Amino acid sequence: MVMFESLSDRLGGVFDRLRGRGALNEADVRAALREVRIALLEADVALPVVRQFVDGVTEKAVGQSVLKSITPGQQVVKIVNDALTEMLGSDAADLDLDVTPPAVVMMVGLQGSGKTTTTAKIAKRLTEKGRKKVLMASLDVNRPAAQEQLATLGTQVSVATLPIVAGQTPVDIARRALQAAKLQGFDVLMLDTAGRLHVDQALMEEMRAVAEISTPHEILLVVDALTGQDAVNVATNFSQQVALTGVVLTRMDGDARGGAALSMRAVTGKPIKFVGTGEKLDGLELFQPSRVAGRILG
Ligand code: GDP
Repeated sequence: MVMFESLSDRLGGVFDRLRGRGALNEADVRAALREVRIALLEADVALPVVRQFVDGVTEKAVGQSVLKSITPGQQVVKIVNDALTEMLGSDAADLDLDVTPPAVVMMVGLQGSGKTTTTAKIAKRLTEKGRKKVLMASLDVNRPAAQEQLATLGTQVSVATLPIVAGQTPVDIARRALQAAKLQGFDVLMLDTAGRLHVDQALMEEMRAVAEISTPHEILLVVDALTGQDAVNVATNFSQQVALTGVVLTRMDGDARGGAALSMRAVTGKPIKFVGTGEKLDGLELFQPSRVAGRILG
């Protein structure tokens, strides 16, 4: 990323004067972590999460012996990078659908986050790679043409969608989808719930009611990677209402540094499972913590 100075470069100056010292002292580490703090804020990590992270790393770094083979600056970058990777999750986490079928996957998130597109991308992946028989249903009765949008995507990825019946509530549709999935022997049922521009009570109640009757095995929160300081609110609100099992971060093909990944992980405690890497329906990858850590630090 040309537009950001890399963390190693930033730290170079701070640490030039430290060469040859025995251990990282608190003042040195604090000076270095001021740069880390700026890098994280520039990467869109939410402020409370930045604080929590920087405090943790300071504690870890102070008093560490300075390794002979690398500069103190490189050493702090390594400590920060390791801490970031650990916090983001050590391994790629795929969906866990090992249940008596149909396994229900519920997609939640704000409108425009990429929820419907991601539903189709995951369905495509499960069909092609996992050889699963997948049924998708849109529960969005607010946005005109939302159900048709999913049907169109379904045709594009050769995945079945629940026939549209006008006038049904989201709970009615979920019930009908579940019955259809059971009767027709589908392995996976993906429920694309309605989004709103902002978190609101009606959306949350509707989402809870759907979760109650469909007992999803996975509930994935879809978040735009460009969600900045608001990421904490989004994650907090959704995770208070339903038992999230993971997060999908969309639009990582853009110039987002991906700090939302850290915010999401810190607030929900749940793994980021996938990243969206394009508008096309094959633009979905398993989340790689170390790769995103590098991107956040620049
Ligand atoms: P929803 O309102 O949350 O269901 O959002 P949509 O699925 O309708 O997506 C909104 C827009 O974002 C569409 O134009 C999608 O093509 C686009 N989109 C979704 N995921 C990605 C992604 O990973 N990268 C890019 N570049 N665009 C995406």
